[in-house]
Amino acid sequence: MFDVVVIGAGLSGLQAAYTAQQAGLSTVVIEARNRVGGKVWSVPLASGRGCAELGAAWVNDSLQPRIWAYAQKFGMKVVKQRLEGRAVMQEDPDSRMEFPFGISPDFSPEEKKNLEHIRGHIQAESLKPGPPSVKDDNVSLDQYVRDLGALPKTIGMINLWAEVMHGLESTEESAAWFIDYCRRNRGLLAIRADDSTGGQYLRFQDGAQTIANRIADLIGESNIHLSSPVISIKDHTSHITVTTTDGKTFTGRKCILSIPSTMYRELNISPRLPKPVREVTDETVLGDYNKAIVCYDRPWWREQGFNGYFASYSGPVILARDTSVDEKRHYSLTCFVNGQKGRDWGKLLPHERRAVVLQQIAKIFKAGSDSEAFRPIEVFDQIWQHEPFSRGALAPITAMGHLTQYASVYGKPVRNLHFVGTEYSPEWKGYMEGAICSGEIGAREVAAAIGQKPQAKL
Ligand SMILES: Cc1cc2nc3c(=O)[nH]c(=O)nc-3n(C[C@H](O)[C@H](O)[C@H](O)COP(=O)(O)OP(=O)(O)OC[C@H]3O[C@@H](n4cnc5c(N)ncnc54)[C@H](O)[C@@H]3O)c2cc1C
Repeated sequence: MFDVVVIGAGLSGLQAAYTAQQAGLSTVVIEARNRVGGKVWSVPLASGRGCAELGAAWVNDSLQPRIWAYAQKFGMKVVKQRLEGRAVMQEDPDSRMEFPFGISPDFSPEEKKNLEHIRGHIQAESLKPGPPSVKDDNVSLDQYVRDLGALPKTIGMINLWAEVMHGLESTEESAAWFIDYCRRNRGLLAIRADDSTGGQYLRFQDGAQTIANRIADLIGESNIHLSSPVISIKDHTSHITVTTTDGKTFTGRKCILSIPSTMYRELNISPRLPKPVREVTDETVLGDYNKAIVCYDRPWWREQGFNGYFASYSGPVILARDTSVDEKRHYSLTCFVNGQKGRDWGKLLPHERRAVVLQQIAKIFKAGSDSEAFRPIEVFDQIWQHEPFSRGALAPITAMGHLTQYASVYGKPVRNLHFVGTEYSPEWKGYMEGAICSGEIGAREVAAAIGQKPQAKL
């Protein structure tokens, strides 16, 4: 019998296993996929020019201490997000405006003032300490900003934030969920920033998945069972048994479940989770959060003074960034196709998905039909809703009213079962840092329950 059986080898599960091991607990990790990392997935380019980050990419060295400590421990080289050049805002398919990167788009003075007022309000709310308000949890983010007097362009921008941050429309998540997310993540502006003050500052030259692979090495290959989807968890009070689809059984004193809560309902957990836990987790949703990564031979957009960043109200790409690693002659635009537009895009055939993305890139950067925009050397499209062991991203979002109603049970241990995942993290929820933070907390909970003291942080 193991002390701890960890289900899932994403960053939260890996960290939980590593912290538990460091506390002297015998640990086994059971992972459905044939790889570790979960939503951190770096795929080598056929051209040999580095890798494409199909999942998580950006980190911050000063604001995210856990992921940064690993980056240093593993000697990982980083690249700073490029800030030079003009950005583009697309308001509808036929109108675009260029603006200096990092400044609000050049809307009319009234529209600009309105956007800055509402953004300032949300930023102020997101710097307040404490739990979210019940009132704000029962109103959609869209209604919340309308009640504050948002004008159409501001309403569009808030919707774009919901799409790009969570893969949902602003009508589909509560204002409290949005504000709480910002509170846990150093405020709205830190989430949106691409410089040293924000979440999109640095990327890893050799891929973020290296962190997951190297933590797995620390845990030990023999302690991680890949290609082993779990179907049932049985809590016998004195111990717990975990069974996989191919009939393997693992026995532990405790179990740490690290899969997104939206997927708990697919497991046969006995005895059943308490009713309030089921009520909240049965209703969490995962966003439509997709990437099209378009790789070129040269960064042609820079020659015309473009930064590579664009945002669009009309889509299908709602936001894009230059994700090149010049040292490796890797030149790419990473295009997010999220929310409702991502839902629609995911229904297209692969060649249709690629065609609409290339057409939009060409339009945004004023490139002709015979230009390099239409001659990528590689294109990746990753639809996380199509991944059976992810079903969307970034992190499960609670239903309207549930964040406050079920705060006392959401993510809290049930008998011998403990829950981790980026969704539960008090810091950088939705991010790799949050996954590591939650994994650490979950393992400490288990160690305390078993009566062991964790030794070290990393
Ligand atoms: C497109 C995209 C872009 C992102 N960008 C960033 C970014 O720039 N910066 C950042 O910090 N974060 C980013 N993230 C978020 C980041 O990837 C996640 O927050 C983090 O990886 C979540 O880790 P986790 O362990 O909580 O969950 P997961 O990674 O989902 O791990 C859960 C694990 O459980 C496994 N599993 C599921 N079901 C079963 C089962 N039945 N049996 C066994 N195992 C199972 C899964 O295969 C997976 O390995 C991004 C994510 C996506 C998808």
